[in-house]
Amino acid sequence: MNRPKDRQNVINISYDMGGKMENVLSVSSSCKNNPLCLARHGEGMTKAEFMRQIRDGGHPCICMVCFAIRALAYKTNLQNNLNENADILANRLLGTEELFTLAMELVEASEINNSPMLRLESFGDIATVTQALNYINLCWLVGMFSQEKIHIAWWTKNWTLLLEAWRKTDEQKKSVFRRCTNIVLSSSRVGIEVDRGIVRNVENELGMPVKVFTVDGFESERTNCGARSCFKCHRCYDKTESTEYIYEVVK
Ligand code: SF4
Repeated sequence: MNRPKDRQNVINISYDMGGKMENVLSVSSSCKNNPLCLARHGEGMTKAEFMRQIRDGGHPCICMVCFAIRALAYKTNLQNNLNENADILANRLLGTEELFTLAMELVEASEINNSPMLRLESFGDIATVTQALNYINLCWLVGMFSQEKIHIAWWTKNWTLLLEAWRKTDEQKKSVFRRCTNIVLSSSRVGIEVDRGIVRNVENELGMPVKVFTVDGFESERTNCGARSCFKCHRCYDKTESTEYIYEVVK
């Protein structure tokens, strides 16, 4: 389903990005104007050099061969939409009416699409505490408007910003958030999960289990993300009772 042309939200929604995101809604900003993403990417690395380091037992930072930076180089319209989102989401809190309109569009699209899945951040990451607060507010409203039927997965490497925003959030929003949202902590280094002490700390602060998503250099018995269809798999979107570790093989 494509986004209807008459939509007037200040924030652009991706209705269907194809690939593993087919039939999954997404709200995202862009890595290309996120200083934290750009710092991790640095000078970048060729895929051949990246794979050579892995074969030699190294654990390069996955951001050195960032999928999003490569994809956005030829998806100009998408890049413009994501830049617009980043400019707003990272720099000011959405007003009540803006948040309501955005949440309502997501809930309606989910019903029409028959897809109860929303991903936060597919091409970037939160860049500021303000952006994290906007997403927390959005999760709360989407949860309320959908009667908690929409499952949200929010990917981030910038959990310190998330936690700072969480400390400014009231308990009513937190409790809806916990029931409908998964935080997916994204590991920076190939083959090495986010430090377990950090995972415990994030879970303690949020008061709920999180997911840890790691890219491995090779397929192995721990590979449990087929990266074909999130709509059919929904592992990252389902709530679990304890920390869940998810492993995808580098593409
Ligand atoms: S584990 Fe499933 S839901 Fe998560 S990214 Fe992979 S295919 Fe998508």
